[in-house]
Amino acid sequence: MTKSRKFLTALILSAIIISSSGCEFSENSPAISPEASSEVSSESSSLPESVPEVIITPESSEPEEIIEAEPVIEPAISFLSQTAERGSYFVLSAENIDLTDFFFTDPFGYNRRFFEKDGIWYCFIPVDPSTDAGYYPLKISCGDFEFKTTITVADRKFKKQYLVVEQATLDATLEDAAVRESFAAFFEEKRWNFTEEKLWEGEFLPPLGDSWYRETTSYGTFRTFSSGRTEWHNATDMAVGGGTPIFATNSGKILFADWLGLTGNTIIIDHGCGIMSWHYHLHKINVAEGDFVEKGTKIGTVGTTGLSTGNHLHFGITVGGIFTDPMAMIGTEPNFDFEKVKTE
Ligand SMILES: [Zn+2]
Repeated sequence: MTKSRKFLTALILSAIIISSSGCEFSENSPAISPEASSEVSSESSSLPESVPEVIITPESSEPEEIIEAEPVIEPAISFLSQTAERGSYFVLSAENIDLTDFFFTDPFGYNRRFFEKDGIWYCFIPVDPSTDAGYYPLKISCGDFEFKTTITVADRKFKKQYLVVEQATLDATLEDAAVRESFAAFFEEKRWNFTEEKLWEGEFLPPLGDSWYRETTSYGTFRTFSSGRTEWHNATDMAVGGGTPIFATNSGKILFADWLGLTGNTIIIDHGCGIMSWHYHLHKINVAEGDFVEKGTKIGTVGTTGLSTGNHLHFGITVGGIFTDPMAMIGTEPNFDFEKVKTE
């Protein structure tokens, strides 16, 4: 080894020692002073302008993978709730399914039709107060699509009432088979005769406005007349002075406004989508069949015509052709805010 080579080797070795000891020094060095660290952070905060080019690359590759996976649109049935009380109703919706002219039979034996609102199909399944509480199977089939579930009718206690009515009044109304049958035929024809579109606007209002009244027979009362005949009272009787104004509980079309043997002066308002309000025993009628009434319009006055023992308004609401609790609808409206529960 020449002298110059020895010198070169020594030079390289010393350089290695210095660099490695330099490393050790930085690792074991005391903490960087606050000024130094703030300088580091302020220096690093000026970095991002050059950084994005590096970050964008992995992110931009992800959307391509999402686009490649084609979304699968499947039919979906949703419930507002799968439990409803006697005298209440279920609301269900169907999405991504063609339900034009589609009927299915509900667990209570009625043909149910879906109506369209904002591109989604809806259906009401009302529960008559005479329905027993319990579990009921529900099946909907449409083409290849089939949906099965169980809905629950929760119990609710209703009152019982014994009502003494003059025999002459009963003979001319409830005990007259012709009157009963003609009313049954009338009810059967009217209750399905609703507008497909929603006509109501917002919450339903009390039909007597701010007038004080006494509830003489509440919805769902099982009553026995002095003649022995029984019935479920499917509305609320509101006793108040004769001539008290009656207002449209919500907007809609007058489906019927005339006198009937059993119910006296009668008004039916079609609020659309299967919801109707029924008003019996009126003194005066201020609207005509075919009229469109705004919510809150005066439609008539309280009286005691037909099978009635005193001035009162018999106020009922049908949902999908069945009388449900009318007072439960006041201050609210059918809720379409669904939570998806099952898709099959
Ligand atoms: Zn009544």
